[in-house]
Amino acid sequence: MRKFQGDTLLVATHNAGKLEEIATLLAPFGVKVIGAAEKGLTEPDETETSFIGNARIKAHAAAKATGLPALSDDSGIEIAALGNAPGVYTADWAETGSGRDFVMAMTKAHDWLIAKGAPKPWRARFCCTLVMAWPDAHDEVFPGTVDGQIVWPMRGDHGHGYDPIFQPDGYDITFAEMDRWAKNEISHRADAFRRLVKGCFD
Ligand code: IMP
Repeated sequence: MRKFQGDTLLVATHNAGKLEEIATLLAPFGVKVIGAAEKGLTEPDETETSFIGNARIKAHAAAKATGLPALSDDSGIEIAALGNAPGVYTADWAETGSGRDFVMAMTKAHDWLIAKGAPKPWRARFCCTLVMAWPDAHDEVFPGTVDGQIVWPMRGDHGHGYDPIFQPDGYDITFAEMDRWAKNEISHRADAFRRLVKGCFD
């Protein structure tokens, strides 16, 4: 396992929320975090069919372009009865041509479960893959997951994306009904981050 050395890490995202979350997490390790936008990077096409594949594309493109170690995050939700869809197409399901509409995406998931006559509980899993890549093309991969079920109707106003229809195992509230701190303790991203910190930063 290669450790992060140096003081600056490029985070291969244009998402300000993700950047802030990662900067906070790595602050105790004295790491200066900069985002893709700050370096004028464009977003590469995510052409792979796995979270690992797409996370690798983003991390390697950023490391190569900047000469800095780069961290990327690719995530999504897998619904068992839908053959693990939307998976890597989680964000695509919300695309409207003029921004993302997650109510539409969640309704699509629910409508499909009903159309299939899928028996409850509707098992589902959020996945997050973090990839650390270096300019010499070495990388380290850290997967994280959280298991639960799809519930309907949507519940809660916190969070983002598919949070209002995801109820993690061991809870009777959705991610969107939890406060940010509670979700961040048990989420797929927290799971992957724990592995990343142990592997590259401790
Ligand atoms: P990415 O930015 O290409 O990794 O897209 C990930 C998509 O997965 C996002 O657009 C969200 O819709 C969804 N997603 C990932 N993590 C979460 C989460 O914690 N809650 C809700 N939706 C999530």
